[in-house]
Amino acid sequence: MDPVGIAAAPDAGPGPAWQSKVSFTPFNGLTAASGRCQASAAARGAVPGVPRPPCPWGAPNTTSISCSLADVMSEQLAKELQLEEENAAFPEVAAVAEGPFITGENIDTSSDLMLAQMLQMEFDREYDAQLRREEKKINGDSKVSISFENYRKVHPYDSDSSEDEVDWQDTRHDPYRADKPTTTPRKGFIGKGKDITTKHDEVVCGRKNTARMENFAPEFQVGDGIGMDLKLSNQVFNALKQHAYSEERRSARLHEKKEHSTAEKAVDPKTRLLLYKMVNAGMLETITGCISTGKESVVFHAYGGKSATEDKVIPPECAIKVFKTTLNEFKNRDKYIKDDYRFKDRFSKLNPRKIIRMWAEKEMHNLTRMQNAGIPCPQVVILKKHVLVMSFIGQDQVPAPKLKDVTLSSEDMKKAYYQILNMMQQLYKECNLVHADLSEYNMLWHDGKVWLIDVSQSVEPTHPHGLEFLFRDCKNVSQFFQKGGVAEALNERELFNAVSGLNITADNEVDFQAEIEALEKMNEDHVQNHGKKLSMFSSDGDPPIYDE
Ligand code: ADP
Ligand code: MN
Repeated sequence: MDPVGIAAAPDAGPGPAWQSKVSFTPFNGLTAASGRCQASAAARGAVPGVPRPPCPWGAPNTTSISCSLADVMSEQLAKELQLEEENAAFPEVAAVAEGPFITGENIDTSSDLMLAQMLQMEFDREYDAQLRREEKKINGDSKVSISFENYRKVHPYDSDSSEDEVDWQDTRHDPYRADKPTTTPRKGFIGKGKDITTKHDEVVCGRKNTARMENFAPEFQVGDGIGMDLKLSNQVFNALKQHAYSEERRSARLHEKKEHSTAEKAVDPKTRLLLYKMVNAGMLETITGCISTGKESVVFHAYGGKSATEDKVIPPECAIKVFKTTLNEFKNRDKYIKDDYRFKDRFSKLNPRKIIRMWAEKEMHNLTRMQNAGIPCPQVVILKKHVLVMSFIGQDQVPAPKLKDVTLSSEDMKKAYYQILNMMQQLYKECNLVHADLSEYNMLWHDGKVWLIDVSQSVEPTHPHGLEFLFRDCKNVSQFFQKGGVAEALNERELFNAVSGLNITADNEVDFQAEIEALEKMNEDHVQNHGKKLSMFSSDGDPPIYDE
């Protein structure tokens, strides 16, 4: 490896992008912390391949830091990150130089994070360039070539920005279908010849192995054996290499975990960015706070802003449902979506994160169907990945109470019951849906009527377990109202028949349940044999899935 490093290398390639236009000292608004980046810019000349210190930005100078963490996480940052994403993450050196936020006239580099990321990216790029040179040097004219492909730094912004820009509103195209990753084949041995004899030259090969050790991930401590005339046998080298690989993967995994998990109360950085974008775009005025933290979602309240398009009106108050990206809870919910024919084909191809987006999408579609049928429910404003914005049921930041928390007069209670009976029928017949989590927890009392919420798990009645879900819903509803003193309330079996239009005659729960399951099985068999559902199941034909 070239001990001089890239700073002195004559073929070091184009200078760092920011050098052309940006000088670090005259920045107004630059904090002390950004100044540290300058120091590290000089340090970039360090020999690549030599393990970098964990914090390349040096020790923090606490005396003159002028911005708090809150500032760093401000809307400004969001704006910058947004710009950055939109610029496809500095794909070109030129693009960086002309980036709207780092030109001389428009110096808005108050975000340390931004600078740090830019520098890191630059560093990584130079590191890769050096890696390529190193690769070339080692391989030379030899017919046996070694690839350092796996040690390249693929910057996160280079890799996933395109996916991030998918417009999740238009789901007629299949946004979930994972693009096949194009992998560069790892170069193995190419050709044979007299050069291959080196393979058997233990001394040369041992030295080469030692040198190659330098190209393990920088975090991987290889000791100073490189400076000595150390000869590593192939066996030892391979074992070390294997270990270095797995270490690198492990740390990448840990990083992934941290990035993508949504903490109990807060949201992960990516979600925060999504929310900030909505505020920056003016679509939301302010996000005021959290209404609810459930197992599967966090719901926020926000004041609506202005819509970019004339035809769409943003409600004055919005609820933002963020589907949690921690996967544990969703594992139990596979059955709702896996067997839903609308999503079936896509399900198997997806990674868990995308499955969570599918929940959000499902809730959006279901709400839209309900809206079209005139069922009181939140109105969808926008869907972005795993974040669903809808109208807020409630007023002045106070969410409408759940049916379980409100004490209704017996008159209202009766009114609520008949309204729900009606809604369940509409849901089944007009929306072709079964709520599948209907209870006093997911019904809000607002404006003197019941509003249905939380429909991400709702399925069509022909779902292999759809009727069971409906029966469970009926049990919850009829129990609630019978306990609540509504004498007219049907029992769960009567309610089931009233909603579904089926006529199951069993007079006890066990038999009733058995008949339901038999019906479901019959339908499944029918689907297997005829490729379509039984006619008794479909209401007025299947509504088209994506024409909402
Ligand atoms: P979860 O799956 O976590 O139960 P929900 O959709 O039921 O998700 O939302 C959780 C809570 O957030 C609800 O019980 C309700 O209090 C509140 N909430 C959700 N959506 C709205 C909305 N559109 N308007 C007002 N409050 C809402
Ligand atoms: Mn709920």
